[in-house]
Amino acid sequence: MAPNEKMINKRGIAVSPGVIAGPALVLGVEDFRIPQRFVSVDAVSSEVARFEAALDAVCRDITENEEVARRQLGDQYGAIFAAHYQLIRDPKLIEEIETLIRDKCFSPEFASSRVLRKYAKEFQNLGSRYLAERATDLFDLEKRLLKQLLGERREELSHLTEPVVVLAHNLTPSETANLDRQFVHGFATEVGGRTSHTAILAGALEIPAVVGIGTFLSSVSGGELVIIDGNHGEVIIDPDEATLDRYRDAKARLHSVAERLLSLRPLTNETKDNVRVQIFGNIEFPDEVVHCTERGADGIGLYRTEFLYLEKNAEPTEEDHYSAYRQVVSAFADRPVVIRTLDLGADKVPASEEFSDLASENTVLGLRSIRLSLENLALFKTQLRAILRAGVHGDIRIMFPLISSLLELRQAKMILADVMEDLEEEGVAFRKDIPIGMMVEVPSAAMMASEFAREVDFFSIGTNDLIQYTLAADRSDPAVAQIYNAGDPSILRMIKMVVDAGLESEIPVTVCGQMSSDPKFLPLLIGIGLRQLSVTPHAIPALKEVVRSITLEEAERIAEQALSLDLARDVEHHLREELKKICPDLIL
Ligand code: PEP
Ligand code: MG
Repeated sequence: MAPNEKMINKRGIAVSPGVIAGPALVLGVEDFRIPQRFVSVDAVSSEVARFEAALDAVCRDITENEEVARRQLGDQYGAIFAAHYQLIRDPKLIEEIETLIRDKCFSPEFASSRVLRKYAKEFQNLGSRYLAERATDLFDLEKRLLKQLLGERREELSHLTEPVVVLAHNLTPSETANLDRQFVHGFATEVGGRTSHTAILAGALEIPAVVGIGTFLSSVSGGELVIIDGNHGEVIIDPDEATLDRYRDAKARLHSVAERLLSLRPLTNETKDNVRVQIFGNIEFPDEVVHCTERGADGIGLYRTEFLYLEKNAEPTEEDHYSAYRQVVSAFADRPVVIRTLDLGADKVPASEEFSDLASENTVLGLRSIRLSLENLALFKTQLRAILRAGVHGDIRIMFPLISSLLELRQAKMILADVMEDLEEEGVAFRKDIPIGMMVEVPSAAMMASEFAREVDFFSIGTNDLIQYTLAADRSDPAVAQIYNAGDPSILRMIKMVVDAGLESEIPVTVCGQMSSDPKFLPLLIGIGLRQLSVTPHAIPALKEVVRSITLEEAERIAEQALSLDLARDVEHHLREELKKICPDLIL
């Protein structure tokens, strides 16, 4: 029986719901996986021999590297490889690996990885920077050994053939966008925050995910069974039988709640006293429209078009844009589809040469989003042309992200007018009266909401960025996850300010940040005056249940009480307790 006394339980930030169990694929440290962890008793001697042959090959490799380094760079560089040689030839280390193969029938890959990672972890824990760096040497040696052992059997991430759960230090939005959706069934990362784009993408892929776990990869070799609980933020490596039973129960329970919620699909989103609340979907990829239609979304409230760049890692052509938008709008012919112009920059940078300048310098306070579009007019105009052209096929609306001043908004609108003129001259069909909206996600835009409301057709509040910029807390950094809080009184006041400005100018206001996907915030948002939300598709059924379980009066009372509190912690507690009364089975 596979030993599981090594069960490890880790906690992080739950960012995409569901539970899944599967073999671990460790990314970054090891871009290939160990397909087989155990060998039969009969094969033990030949497996030990295979390990020794691989070890010899690695040593030959290192010796060659040492000679080249000495010749070309000098003795001190050759010495680096000499140290590697000493490490990998350490009799104690070799003995330990061979014992695991002989006594526990571990495959040489699994045994080598286990032992080298154990030492690497010990080095990391010694508290000295010099020794911590030796851990990197051990990871390097592990890679060399695995390369020899796996040879042709090495499985690249892009060529997966069976389901895995990905464990990584970090996944950039671009890497996440390129994950093999057929076989990656969940992921967990050491870094990352609640509304990091990687977390949002996990929602788009509809796979359980946990981020911000802290250091844990040195305890995993790859191939171990791992449970990812995206509801509670738990990651369990090598679970024991009792834990696996609990996992199966949780999965069955979630499934039955999901089934019940889905049965609400034909019903309208309205409160017990018939106040209509529209629930739109947020999407990153055109094929996500099915996730929205099958759950009865009222349309698309946010299409994050920058993923066209991230998925391909190249600049899309006008036709690429156009066909993506047509695909989305054809699923929602008579319902609104809000296309946000590209929001590239900060952590959303394509991994290609074309964008390399951006990668090294772009920060959350830098030349990102609309600022980048206004500096790169060719890029911006290409996208605007495609949106306007697609506009003739349905109710498409255009939205500018990260607007921070009226000047910026006016510039963006001017460029749009230029593009319309060009299309007119060329005789190309386009939508002339396209509604123009903006995201309110910078505190300056919230403060100036009344002025902005006179110049746009709608607002969409991007709480993910609004929280980060208001509280000066990086949305991707788990170290400040306690500060980064949607329930902070400053955020509630700001949302109310924007909603009031919208009501005054009679323009619709939506919240499209992750906050609106969390059922506990829904009564508050309705009570503040919001009648539209744009959410992660998988959240739609639960939100519908909340809408249909309250009255406007209840929502207003909950909001009034929340607005009277002065600590985020108390707001969260209050909202959770209220949700418990309204829809107890949504509290996990
Ligand atoms: C937001 O900032 O709330 C938002 C919806 O935009 P993104 O998450 O893409 O930055
Ligand atoms: Mg944003």
